[in-house]
Amino acid sequence: MEFVNVIVDISHEKLDRIFQYRIPEELQGKISTGMQVQVPFGMGNRTIKGYVTGVTDVPDYPVEKIKPVTGLVDGAVPAESELIALAAWMKEFYGSTMNQALKTVLPVKQEVSSRQEKCIVLAIPREEAEQLLKEVLHKNFRAKARLLAGLLDHDGKLSSKEAADLKITSSVIQGMERDGVVRQISRVQYRNPFAGKFEQTGIQRTLTEEQKNAVDGIWDEYAQGIRKTYLLEGVTGSGKTEVYMELISRVIAEGKQAIVLIPEIALTFQTVRRFYERFGDRVSVMHSRLSEGERYDQFLRAKAGEIDVMIGPRSALFTPFSQIGVMIIDEEHEGAYKSETVPRYDAREVAAVRAKKHGASLILGSATPSVETSRRAREGKFGWYRLTSRIGQAILPEVSVVDLREELRDGNRSIFSRRLLSAMDDRLKKRQQTMLFLNRRGLSGFVSCRSCGKSIRCPHCDVTLSLHKDGSLRCHYCGYRIPMPKNCPSCGSPYISGFRAGTQQIEREVHRLFPQARVLRMDYDTTRTRESYEQILSAFGNGQADILVGTQMIVKGHDFPDVTLVGIVAADISLYASDYRAAERTFQLLTQAVGRAGRGSKAGEAVIQTYMPEHYSIQTAAKQDYDAFYEQEILYRELMGYPPVDEMLGIYLSGKDLEKLESCAEQLVEWIRNAHVEGLCLIGPADAALARKNDSYRKVIYMKHEKKIILLKIKKLLEQQIAGTDNWNDIFIQFDYNPLQA
Ligand code: ADP
Ligand code: ZN
Ligand code: ZN
Repeated sequence: MEFVNVIVDISHEKLDRIFQYRIPEELQGKISTGMQVQVPFGMGNRTIKGYVTGVTDVPDYPVEKIKPVTGLVDGAVPAESELIALAAWMKEFYGSTMNQALKTVLPVKQEVSSRQEKCIVLAIPREEAEQLLKEVLHKNFRAKARLLAGLLDHDGKLSSKEAADLKITSSVIQGMERDGVVRQISRVQYRNPFAGKFEQTGIQRTLTEEQKNAVDGIWDEYAQGIRKTYLLEGVTGSGKTEVYMELISRVIAEGKQAIVLIPEIALTFQTVRRFYERFGDRVSVMHSRLSEGERYDQFLRAKAGEIDVMIGPRSALFTPFSQIGVMIIDEEHEGAYKSETVPRYDAREVAAVRAKKHGASLILGSATPSVETSRRAREGKFGWYRLTSRIGQAILPEVSVVDLREELRDGNRSIFSRRLLSAMDDRLKKRQQTMLFLNRRGLSGFVSCRSCGKSIRCPHCDVTLSLHKDGSLRCHYCGYRIPMPKNCPSCGSPYISGFRAGTQQIEREVHRLFPQARVLRMDYDTTRTRESYEQILSAFGNGQADILVGTQMIVKGHDFPDVTLVGIVAADISLYASDYRAAERTFQLLTQAVGRAGRGSKAGEAVIQTYMPEHYSIQTAAKQDYDAFYEQEILYRELMGYPPVDEMLGIYLSGKDLEKLESCAEQLVEWIRNAHVEGLCLIGPADAALARKNDSYRKVIYMKHEKKIILLKIKKLLEQQIAGTDNWNDIFIQFDYNPLQA
């Protein structure tokens, strides 16, 4: 092969194409797809890094014009061609440059922290070694016996350190090497983040009927060669993780690997420990508390076949395993699975593509599945298993919904209802713990009426309008705007405003009302450092506080057996977020928050404070009734044509020159209209929620259509139009499918 196709490491749309280089004599046979090379670029003697996407004998240009590759990038590990193909797909599908897509898929090269380590391996079959052990014991050759026994105990492999611990000298090893019994090899030793922290216990629990049903159902299909996506729907504590582990152990037995995605925030010490106890050193983890070098090492370990299971957040999706048998996405409804940087990919979608390539099954687990996943399960496109009860005696808490409008009518202007106050008082007396939860999502700009509970909604999009600095109320989908009214349009009351209480005010109010109570607060401000997050949680877990006040951070994945009361201070805040997922998010958050109470043996209680007690997401969350929620929610999505009924594509434009930005947005709209796509709904252009950021103006356009493939075609068409127009230099464009937030 004489030529290579290279994507250069420059993030510039105009350079987002393949450049060809010649392989010089000294590098012949040394370059393959996925490697990183240094190539000359532009004027002068400048060289830059690039990714090899292919090797060929056929030049695309006159040979004399093709420059030679300068060299290989030192120490860079070649990427699987499968991952390069995946990057190419992501580039096309989500819209990005190839360079951006490659950077998403490939780990950043770091100082490799590995070191060479000598180790001793058995050079004869196990049975022979056992026989030999008997003989040397008989002859009383103690050191030889220790070495043989050590090797037999450690799967035929001892590190030189382990040998030293067994007091085996190098002369003994050399002697046995001469006899052909052992061999000394050096292997690369990577940093293992668990070394010495946990112990493999091999504990395997007897599965419950429901667990067994799920495992057997999925495994039967696997054995028949059926590969698909499954929804594993089960309340927290119903034993989903146990199901994952059982399936994983089965694919490992077939010589395959597993990837387990967990939202970073739920990736706790306890989760990792459980996997380690079952799979030992064959499992690894990626999370932001590891150094970049350590993270890079974990990729190398995966590549070297040292591990079978990788646990981690979104990015662990790209672990370079060679043969994946199962991929698991726990808490699949979490927003964290959607990337908010270009390419704006959805990990669930990319996982499905990767699973298909590897012939792996994909399992999506949740207590409150996303509406899109639920719909597919109901339509029979996904397999569907449910775990309906918690393991052990823990029962779901008693939930009461408090109407804050009534509190106001009765003259109570405090953040706390009388019901919540008396429950808090009761727990303090009983020395039990309380969690107070304030969901800050959507807090900025939401306006509602404290007298009737209604918010002001866009007449076209049926989402809550948000308040802007100039005093107008706006829709972030279509740009509809009205001046902020003085009185509620529904009931005429003057009590119409935003909700201003934050976690700090709640903490202050608790101190004022219960001066004796010990209070901890957990929010963005108190968790700036990595350690503070764990510190607050462990202090609360150790009983060093009576009350924990916090944002959604406190409701995810933590088990505090002494918490018997959960207070949701203002359930409506997320309900009034100005996007179509507001009710879904509210249901999920409330269900999670309620589920925090009564995890131990003591019965729990939850109090939900709201101005809209009749809203279905609050009603159904109080009853922990997912099906009832889904039935209502899907009606709204159908009526308004929101995902998953229709697919949605957001186009975000930004630029420093407002006039130019506006004309470009109009131009896009014109191109879309001229395409005459049947059934397409075009919304906007409108100001983005954050209409101005870092001196740039931002506009949005949304499109809805029943079929994603049609949206994909329109996106392509627009990309081509833009590439063929000069005027767009300083305008930045991003595409986003089914955006998380308006
Ligand atoms: P989930 O992942 O649905 O929240 P887990 O798998 O964490 O549920 O299970 C909750 C608790 O029940 C854990 O402590 C787990 O060890 C235990 N558990 C799960 N399955 C079983 C079982 N079949 N027998 C005994 N204990 C189990
Ligand atoms: Zn009102
Ligand atoms: Zn609107």
